[in-house]
Amino acid sequence: MRSISIFGATGSIGESTFDLIMRGGGPAAYRTVALTGSSNIKRLAEMARALNAEVAVTARDDLLPDLRAALAGTETICAAGQAAISEAADRPADWVMSAIVGAAGLVPGLRALRHGGTLALANKESLVTAGPLLMATAAKYGATILPVDSEHSAVFQALAGEDQAAVERVIITASGGPFRQFSMAQMQAITPAQAVAHPNWSMGQRISIDSASMFNKALELIETREYFGFSPDQIEVIVHPQSIVHALIGFCDGGIMAHLGPADMRHAIGFALHWPQRGHVPVERLDLARLAALNFEAPDPARFPALRLARAVMDMRGLSGAAFNAAKEIALDHFIAGNLPFLAMAQVVEDTLARLSHQNSLQIAATALEDVLHMDHLARKTATQIVAEAVASRH
Ligand code: NDP
Ligand code: MG
Repeated sequence: MRSISIFGATGSIGESTFDLIMRGGGPAAYRTVALTGSSNIKRLAEMARALNAEVAVTARDDLLPDLRAALAGTETICAAGQAAISEAADRPADWVMSAIVGAAGLVPGLRALRHGGTLALANKESLVTAGPLLMATAAKYGATILPVDSEHSAVFQALAGEDQAAVERVIITASGGPFRQFSMAQMQAITPAQAVAHPNWSMGQRISIDSASMFNKALELIETREYFGFSPDQIEVIVHPQSIVHALIGFCDGGIMAHLGPADMRHAIGFALHWPQRGHVPVERLDLARLAALNFEAPDPARFPALRLARAVMDMRGLSGAAFNAAKEIALDHFIAGNLPFLAMAQVVEDTLARLSHQNSLQIAATALEDVLHMDHLARKTATQIVAEAVASRH
């Protein structure tokens, strides 16, 4: 029987993964090793009961009594805290979903790779923060990382059977988010409630806002470079409001292979679950006649500066990805809290990178976990300081 773990089970990707596992036979077909969550104890306990999970872990120490109470009478071991989540990743599983949000997903992913199984990687932040370390760890232990981000799953699928040396360009699509047609003046007043309402995809709060600012696409540019190894000038972003074409590969003979599918993450998750076979996945089938049109337009660099910042990070590499992601997470926290205007998020990230670039440490390769975590910490501190200065200057 195949064994699985889901990190970030209670989130949007976690729920979709749980859905596919249940439809695929649930506990009769899969042995569930670990399920993790954070605040949503009720849902974590329901999932652990449904799958007879060996361990259920919440990131929050204060919620351990609640988790224990919710799982009373079961054989599931309960644990809490970040260290317990990493320890859950030390339990071998054949297939592990990495769907914690943010840099908190890095260490569990690295630890899971040490069993040599398959890591289905939704947590793009780990590739942005520590791409070389993650890829080297997979190679060292003979593990397989499968991309779950829809664009990267699409690139992976379009590359199947192709010679990567024949690839000229890789194009990932962006929906453009809710503010695609907003003027600069309108963008000054964007609220978190507006930013979280994505036109096509149903996702967690943080990635939805990152999609609206195009920081999500910025992370995905870096993710494309780190996972596939293409050079920055080969990787393009095109805005495609329907979110039907997820990525396109242009080859040296001028041909383009595109990957199309509904805006439902269960396609990419199901692909990773069944790989190297193709299995039935219960997503809507595209009706091309009803779609009628697929539109494409260039992204606007003035209103979406995140893409330019990502290009700088792709060129610099080293620990700049760790700094970029950490600063973005802090800026996002402050936008959600109402302390920072929408457009100021990119400024905080840019200023953080500028301040840190005076230190040679940004150039250090992202190959040692302690260097990565140190930069993550430093960038969070620097970004927090920059936000405090920005808030003070407004009063
Ligand atoms: P959600 O916010 O919906 O879920 C996040 C999950 O992580 C939840 O299980 C949450 O627990 C848990 N969590 C939150 N904070 C911590 C922490 N500090 N330590 C451990 N666990 C924590 O996010 P999504 O499912 O939308 O996204 C997950 C990842 O997948 C992200 O990296 C995102 O970029 C990526 N992704 C998501 C897509 C999507 O369609 N949603 C598409 C492509 C990539 P709880 O809810 O119990 O508090
Ligand atoms: Mg994506």
